Amino acid sequence: MLYTSTRGEYGPLPAAEAIKLGIAPDSGLFVPTERVMMSMKDIQDMVGMSYQQRADKILGPYLTDFASNEIRCSIDHAYNANSFDHPEVAPLAELDTRLSVLELWHGPTCAFKDMALQILPHLLVTSMQKTGESAGILILVATSGDTGKAALEGFKDVPRTAIMVFYPEKGVSEVQKMQMVTQEGGNVGVYAVRGNFDDTQSGVKAIFGDVAMQQAVAECGYKFSSANSINWGRLAPQIVYYFSAYADLVRRGHVQFGEAVNFVVPTGNFGNILAGFYARQMGLPVHRLVCAANENNVLTDFIASGIYDRNRDFKRTISPSMDILISSNLERLLYELTGHDASKVRQWMADLAAKGRYTVDDSTREQIQALFWSDYADDAATMSSIKETHRRYGYVVDTHTAVGLHVYDLYRHSTGDDRPTVVLSTASPFKFNASVAKALLGEERTAGRDEFALLQMLSDFSGLPVPSGLSGLAERRIRHLTVADREQMPGAVLEFVKQRR
Ligand SMILES: *Cc1c(COP(=O)(O)O)cnc(C)c1O
Repeated sequence: MLYTSTRGEYGPLPAAEAIKLGIAPDSGLFVPTERVMMSMKDIQDMVGMSYQQRADKILGPYLTDFASNEIRCSIDHAYNANSFDHPEVAPLAELDTRLSVLELWHGPTCAFKDMALQILPHLLVTSMQKTGESAGILILVATSGDTGKAALEGFKDVPRTAIMVFYPEKGVSEVQKMQMVTQEGGNVGVYAVRGNFDDTQSGVKAIFGDVAMQQAVAECGYKFSSANSINWGRLAPQIVYYFSAYADLVRRGHVQFGEAVNFVVPTGNFGNILAGFYARQMGLPVHRLVCAANENNVLTDFIASGIYDRNRDFKRTISPSMDILISSNLERLLYELTGHDASKVRQWMADLAAKGRYTVDDSTREQIQALFWSDYADDAATMSSIKETHRRYGYVVDTHTAVGLHVYDLYRHSTGDDRPTVVLSTASPFKFNASVAKALLGEERTAGRDEFALLQMLSDFSGLPVPSGLSGLAERRIRHLTVADREQMPGAVLEFVKQRR
């Protein structure tokens, strides 16, 4: 299998090169040049398989330049009992016979980013070996919360890699901050940056693009790379859990083999739901992909109108991991739906860069509307969805999953479609416990309590244990105290690599 850029000016090249590069040098995203197909027999076979075996079956055809033991090894390092607190890795919780929740948060950081970031470091190191790369890889991450911690957990102590995470000093939750500053591992660095997320991100981008920095880092034996969601090595592992959920529904007798199901996906950067699109292209019986947004509903408008317009106010919501106005992975969908027309994609992306807006052609819009459906939940609807889900099913969800459940209700009312449906749950309720506790326990009982006290209250209320990644957080040793100005970031990078040459 070869990969090519959505902008048409780079590739084709093997998976190992695409994963090592992350983003294509023409600014496009790497996509597979051919369609991978799973036969009905393949899908039937998955019914009796473990998550790890299902992952092997899906990843194999995408990573044809990897030896089968290299793929196996990466899977075993990623999805095991040390890092996932559930033997099924991504278990399905049944709310009723027609509605299930796919829990993607049993990994070390309690959010779905772990599904990809636990395996990416192993795919990346294997890619380095396969391409004869002699340098070590230095991962730089600017984070507003979830990605930084998930990347730290994924890369910690992985040989020939080092990772530095920068977060805005006042821009993350108390739990997220404690998760990062207590990070263990011999190859990790965590830095607070004075400023907001944009300052942090532009600081990291400037370092990536600085030739003198690249040279200085190379002298210490390192090369920069990125772990963000545009790397194909993060997308491919996400396809697995769509197949896995379907196989589990068949195994439990909730779906007739071959019957189509809906997936509802709380969406920000369009990475998660795009993996569902690829699963459908590969032959998985999927009827509709429901794109659930919060008040930053640029995708809802796009799916309704074919016009992508980011010229609007950015809203801070209680589902912060979906507070995104530029959904980068959408570019891959456009490339696929236009029949790999890179010149169209280039034009739309140029419009986006210049005007913050583009309009797709009628055929692309109609294809999108046939497959996707979208609506959104504001914060008030999200809070009542948490409450209502608990009242109806005795099940506790986080704010992002609550957005998904609310939009699913809108979908059913609007279309009357009552096919079996899976809502993807992207975070543990404990990860965003301040809002969840407030929704379930009420304003009065939660007012004035810090996030750590609320963890315990939520545990007492729900009868669920606080996940190990979050318990005892307040007592853990703080290992990373550095606060830097944006201008000090390059110096911090140089100091970090010199210590590790
Ligand atoms: C990242 C994230 C999302 C959004 O996923 P995308 O792939 O960016 O669409 C949703 N929920 C949570 C909890 C996340 O961390």
